[in-house]
Amino acid sequence: MASPLGHTAVALALGVALQPAQAPRRYWVLGVCCCLLPDLDFLGRWPGNRRLEALLDGHRGLTHSIPFAFLVGLLVVLTACVGPEWRGRRGRLWAYFTAATASHGLVDCLTAYGASVALLAPISWVRVKAPWQPLSQDRVTASSIASPRNRAARCSGSSCPPCSWRVRSPGGGGASRNFDTHHAAP
Ligand SMILES: [Zn+2]
Repeated sequence: MASPLGHTAVALALGVALQPAQAPRRYWVLGVCCCLLPDLDFLGRWPGNRRLEALLDGHRGLTHSIPFAFLVGLLVVLTACVGPEWRGRRGRLWAYFTAATASHGLVDCLTAYGASVALLAPISWVRVKAPWQPLSQDRVTASSIASPRNRAARCSGSSCPPCSWRVRSPGGGGASRNFDTHHAAP
């Protein structure tokens, strides 16, 4: 996973962009909680908890998906934003809590390490990685992103890098292939 600090920074940036007027402190706290929530899927790995692990499809499975984020956003608004002070702002709050939760899986797609992400689970259990993965376990710096080696890695594999997501079939099998969303066969 990307670091909790990185996920928090993304959630706060989204919070600034989507914040309603006079957003209370709870708005920020809930947004940060939403962005960190997906990694609770580690609970599915506890010994003897195989059924939960299968339900979540392992790490970076169901809890990292966009449909899951929509559900979390809705539940947070319905349970934590019930007072009159939230009236007329719940649609915007839903958008923020959904975006904060979904940002976790999307950021994880940018990591050069770890499992691929089931972004559309449970609609589709196909796992994806972004064609450009600037987040490594090494310290990421602007110079490392711009290095010739990393530039070469970003440009390899397809003539259309922004659309070329690495896709792994739900059955695993370990092998990844480049999937060009523009030029794939129907
Ligand atoms: Zn994660």
